[in-house]
Amino acid sequence: MSVNIGKILGIPIRIHWTLWFVFLLIAWSLAVGYLPATYPQLSVTMDWIVGTVSALLLFISVLVHELSHSYIAKKNGLPIARITLFFFGGVSEMSQEPQDAGLEVRMAAAGPLTSFAIAGVLGGLWYIGGLVGFPIAVIAVLGYNALINGALGAFNLIPAFPLDGGRVLRGSLWRSSKNLLTATKNATRVSEILSLLMIAAGLLLVVATADFVNGIWIIFLGWFIRSGAETSLQQTQMTEALHGITVGDIMTKNPLTVNPSITVQQLVNEFFLVHPHGGYPVVQNDKLQGVVTMSSVRSISKERRDFETVGQAMVPFQRIVTIGQMASAADAMQKMAQKQIGRLIVTDGDTVLGIITRGDLMKRTKMSQDLGVQSAIGR
Ligand SMILES: [Zn+2]
Repeated sequence: MSVNIGKILGIPIRIHWTLWFVFLLIAWSLAVGYLPATYPQLSVTMDWIVGTVSALLLFISVLVHELSHSYIAKKNGLPIARITLFFFGGVSEMSQEPQDAGLEVRMAAAGPLTSFAIAGVLGGLWYIGGLVGFPIAVIAVLGYNALINGALGAFNLIPAFPLDGGRVLRGSLWRSSKNLLTATKNATRVSEILSLLMIAAGLLLVVATADFVNGIWIIFLGWFIRSGAETSLQQTQMTEALHGITVGDIMTKNPLTVNPSITVQQLVNEFFLVHPHGGYPVVQNDKLQGVVTMSSVRSISKERRDFETVGQAMVPFQRIVTIGQMASAADAMQKMAQKQIGRLIVTDGDTVLGIITRGDLMKRTKMSQDLGVQSAIGR
């Protein structure tokens, strides 16, 4: 879905496939619509060159916007897993929510402020360029990008999750109420109202003016905000519900383990077809060697499964993610999110103590919520 294009500030930058499509769409719409209408003196070839350069500059601006969030996060010790650029702009994927309200506000506000700063610089150059007589193609690039960065900053200030404005709102509510969960609930409510208004406005636009493009665009944005708010609320509820619970409290103790010398086919027959687990620790002489999962099996072709051993198919010890039993359940959740995996082996050195899965965390969260208890349970 996404390709890596490198690292900036130590953060992997990825491009989502939808971005290529949107890049072409923006370059095209500039070349055939906006530019001929605004600068009729440009040739068709120049329209395309200016359109392409402007689209490219727009994506660089979006990247700088995202990097501004990441910079504040990193400076305050908050890890950023990766930045993914996709059709709306970008997403900085935090593997951890900010620990204090002030940081959340500063981090969220950095993005729109950066966009406004870019708009200011480009707008200034555009103005000077007009006075001293820059080539019209350069003026066109500067003018468009000044406008679009201003719009980007303004759009992100809408107080709705997962937009920056929504984070500023939540951070401010959090600062005054001192309660993250209440702040998130209230901020989510605002997001939901805004998203419903956007969906209604989009529908109205389609029905009343037959403006399908803008109407569907607004409906889509409304839907995006709604689902983002929902996810954020769930994540906060989970963190709250898991408060004070350690990995040792909810892990499965003494899990079934697999010997590295058996074949992959034996593993399928004797483990995957018999037990309901999606993965097993591989252990020899009481020492953890690695982890074998359904996808390790899938990576071995059917014909080879009688010959290859679990030791050859497993994810080796050096590359697996483990956690200690005294770590908090919330840490386990963050680790899984960060590494995009569904289970962690609980170890003491190279001894396996247990296994903890995303399902265990969800079950525990649900139980705490059903009982209406948040922090005290389990301790
Ligand atoms: Zn932002």
